[in-house]
Amino acid sequence: MENRRIIVSSGNKHKIEEIKDILKGLPFNILSKDEVGLKDLDIIEDKETLKENAIKKALEVSKETKGIVIADDTGLFVDKLDGRPGIYSARYAGENATFKDNNDLLLKELKGISLDKRTAKFITVIAIVDGENIETVVGECRGKIGFNLRGENGFGYDPLFIVDDYNKTFAELGEDIKNKISHRANALVKLRDKLKDMIKDDR
Ligand code: IMP
Repeated sequence: MENRRIIVSSGNKHKIEEIKDILKGLPFNILSKDEVGLKDLDIIEDKETLKENAIKKALEVSKETKGIVIADDTGLFVDKLDGRPGIYSARYAGENATFKDNNDLLLKELKGISLDKRTAKFITVIAIVDGENIETVVGECRGKIGFNLRGENGFGYDPLFIVDDYNKTFAELGEDIKNKISHRANALVKLRDKLKDMIKDDR
């Protein structure tokens, strides 16, 4: 049987590589939305949950092309801040906020809070749309928000997120370890299992 196509509803090359890596050996051709001619399809993330946003991103691409479509949405949920920045993680400090702006605001909001009360988790939801069928998987990673930026790797909140059990930030741990233990990695493992089941159902 021919390989099935999986279109990733993202233009982020880093994400596509991470997905290709975890799905190695399975009979799928992984393509970005740019590679199927949908580079200019702009999808507005205006829903109230990660799950709804992920499904929206996958469905909008699915309407325009053939194949399985997957899309992810991630947020950092800080307990002491009632789950902020959550679904607004990318634009926590404003519409055009940089990673630095967001990290600065997070430190400001947690000023005076002791380390044991700075607990947080990253959550990633991946939606999988195959024709009429919609499924989602969730991955989490728990940690604490540090008092200052530490480490050089990664992006976003990585220099502030001290991972439980490691006592190091994602930015200090580096990509190899991060890609084994992160929220996205945990969700991707579940995605792989779900896709394996879908192949079985095809037989
Ligand atoms: P997205 O849904 O993957 O685009 O993530 C939304 C926002 O969450 C990003 O702009 C980052 O600020 C933050 N974020 C997502 N994943 C990570 C991560 O692995 N480390 C640090 N920050 C992240």
